Order: sequence, then structure tokens, then C-alpha cells
Amino acid sequence: MPKKLIVIGGGSAGCFAAIAAAESGADVTLIEKNASPGKKILATGNGRCNYCHDKVTYADLYRPEGDGFLSAVMERFSPEDVLDKFRDLGITPVNKGGYIYPYSEQARAVSDVLKRAVNGTGVKLITETEVTDVVKKENGFTILCGDKKFDADAVILTTGGKAAPNTGSDGKGLAICSFLGHKVIPPVPALTYLTVRDHPYKKAAGTRLSAKVSIEVSGSILSSDTGQIQITKNGISGIPAFNICRSASRGLLEKNPVKLHIRLVPEMDDEALKEEILGRIGNGCITPYDALTGLFPDTFSDSLLRNSGIDPDRVPDNGRKTAEKLFAYLRDITLPVCGTGDFADAQVTCGGVCLDEVDPSTMESKLIPGLFLAGEILDMDGKCGGYNLYFAWASGYIAGKNGGA
Ligand SMILES: Cc1cc2nc3c(=O)[nH]c(=O)nc-3n(C[C@H](O)[C@H](O)[C@H](O)COP(=O)(O)OP(=O)(O)OC[C@H]3O[C@@H](n4cnc5c(N)ncnc54)[C@H](O)[C@@H]3O)c2cc1C
Repeated sequence: MPKKLIVIGGGSAGCFAAIAAAESGADVTLIEKNASPGKKILATGNGRCNYCHDKVTYADLYRPEGDGFLSAVMERFSPEDVLDKFRDLGITPVNKGGYIYPYSEQARAVSDVLKRAVNGTGVKLITETEVTDVVKKENGFTILCGDKKFDADAVILTTGGKAAPNTGSDGKGLAICSFLGHKVIPPVPALTYLTVRDHPYKKAAGTRLSAKVSIEVSGSILSSDTGQIQITKNGISGIPAFNICRSASRGLLEKNPVKLHIRLVPEMDDEALKEEILGRIGNGCITPYDALTGLFPDTFSDSLLRNSGIDPDRVPDNGRKTAEKLFAYLRDITLPVCGTGDFADAQVTCGGVCLDEVDPSTMESKLIPGLFLAGEILDMDGKCGGYNLYFAWASGYIAGKNGGA
């Protein structure tokens, strides 16, 4: 008799787990609460689905160098394995600066081939059915969906985290894990915008700037990223803001003081920037506002000068001193962070089932034999760039191969 396996949650990790388990010969049922699997995939990469990155480092998934969990996953299913598996399914990749998309740049292509493969491998798909509980029996499990019951020899939980709950991931799977005895690191929104108190750059909303941004929590810098940020009415957005957001979310949850540091003109070292500013303002001939023409968008220069304590419209008495003051400010604009986007705005969840309780070589729970976990339900999140989907496919595949064997 083939092993009876139930996969709960038909997102990226769940579809890969179901396909891998069915290919291993298991009798697989996939239970999804939406009308169709893969709803979130359609929204990824702005509808283009950045489904992997060509290289994945520990830092991309915020793990310490040499981290055993991530290295075990990457050894068993690498980014190249993801690309190969998708080639088999019919997706030709296109590499845009390391970001991998389907050649058609349509997220629908990814969800379509997954649905086809789920069907083609004989997985039984049950949709519009929400799992409400998982009960461990002496041999196997009972899965409860309201008043419906399903029995299984093994279970793979791939219900995601709490990000984008309109796509189905509302955190119920985390509650089930917690009830089963797993430690859950409190989930917080990640890959979303930051809001600052008494935003001094409100008037410059819409401005895009090159910057290095960092999050300081209780006096320590916890994360930094460099790239193009966007000033918003309430704070900042853009990929670098998204990438450092998790530290702010966690700091705020723990009620610690959180600060945002913005370092402008990151392409220039201190010496070069000092010279640039001195050359523009140091001679004390033109107004600071005029002196910044071409360096910053004019919508931003006015706010920048006023916030640094320099009158934009008055030729300075001491140009050198004014230039030094502006230089110091450009190197560190510090703003108090008061919030982030919520789960509805977030692309991913930071937090989830504690990795110490899961064997990364199989994705099996160390507490409950026969229970496997994969994807965003685990305490693993990554930066923008295809890393989160990489982890969903890779961990889903490993869980499927081992859960189905
Ligand atoms: C707008 C947006 C854009 C993104 N873009 C990218 C990108 O370009 N590249 C990238 O790498 N990552 C991206 N991500 C992140 C990535 O999509 C997720 O990390 C990944 O999809 C997580 O996969 P998962 O299968 O673990 O969870 P999910 O995709 O969240 O899937 C969980 C599934 O479980 C189902 N489910 C939940 N609870 C139950 C229940 N009780 N019973 C039955 N079914 C249940 C849900 O309906 C859902 O289908 C993006 C996310 C968002 C929101």
C-alpha cells in the first residue's frame, strides 16, 4: 500500500511538496482553502514572479554565515535544482541581474505549470476546504476541516505565514503548530515600508534617492541595505527599506527604540563627498539651494537643507562651515521609526516555527514524527530577489521527497 500523505496548503511550498511526494510513489492529497492553488504566486514579482535567484547566500536569508539549516537545504535542493525542476515543468528562465523570472515574465505561467503537474502526478486536490486542526494519533494523523475528517500516515504543513492574508495565509497553520507543541517565533511583517514619527520629509513624498539605510534597535545596527529608496508621506519605501524592515518590525514588537539611519550619496566615499559639497557651497557665492542643483531632486533639496538647519535661500557667511555641516548631515540622517506596513502590505513573514525543532535534511518535525513543515510557515525569510520562493520550493521539495518516501 502506498503511503497516504496529506499536504495542507497549496502555495509554492505545498505544490512542490505534493508533486515531489507523488513522484516518490505516495498517495497524495493536497488540501487548499482557496478555490485554486497558487493564488499568491500570481501576485509575486509584480505579476512577473521572480521565482528564484541565481545565487543564494546566507545573508540573503538573514542567516549567519555557515548556518547549518540553510546549508542542509541548499545541499539537497540548490537554486540550480529549482531552475532544472521548472525547466522540466516547462518554464524557461530569464536572468535579470541575478533575479530569475519565467521567460514570458508572467507569474501565471508558474502557477499554471504547477497546477498541471499537481494534476499530472495524480495528486488528489481538495479545494475550498480549510484545515482547522491536525490531530496526532498513535499511527498517523487525523486532519479536521470543520466537520470533515481525513486520515493520513504523514502530513506536510505548508500553510505559509501571515503575509498577504488575502491570498490565504492567515496564520492558522502557525496556531496548529503551536497547539501541536511547536515553538513559534512571533510573526511580524517583513518586506514592507517603514513609517517615521513626525516625518520631516513629508513634503518630499515621491522623491527617489540613492541611499544606504540601516535599522538601529536599542543602540545596535541590526540591518543595512543600499539602493534606491522612495520618500513616502509617512516614511520610506523601496527595496532597501523592505530588506531592513524585519529588524524594525521585531524591535517595535518588543517595544524597543527603533531608529532609521539614512546615508545619502552612498556611491561616494567621505573624502569625495566632502570635496563635492565644499566645491558647491564652500566658496559662499550662491545659495545652498542653488548649490545642490543636479545633486538632489529640487523637491528634496529644500527639505534637506531646512532639516539640516541650513537656510536654503541665504548665501552662507561661512561657506566651509556650512558645507561641513551639510556633509555630516548627508552621512547620517536619523529618524525615529514608529511603524511598518502591516501583514496586508507585507510580502513575507519574519518568524514562524522555530528551526531548531525541524530536521533540515528531511523537513520533518523533531517533536512529531510524520509531520513535515516547509515554506514560510518556518522561521525563515529572505530579502527581495527570489530568495523567499527559492526557500519555499527547496524546503517543499525536500519535505515531499521525505514525507512521501
Ligand atoms: C505581493 C507579494 C509579492 C512577492 N513576490 C515575491 C517574489 O517575486 N519572489 C519571491 O521569492 N518571493 C516573493 N514573495 C514571497 C513569496 O510569495 C512567499 O514567501 C511564498 O509564496 C511562500 O510560500 P508558501 O507556500 O510557504 O506559503 P503561501 O504561498 O502563503 O501558501 C500557503 C497556502 O496555504 C493555504 N492555507 C493557509 N491556511 C490553510 C488552511 N488552514 N487550510 C488549507 N489551506 C490553507 C493558503 O490558502 C495558501 O494557498 C511575494 C509575496 C507577496 C505577498
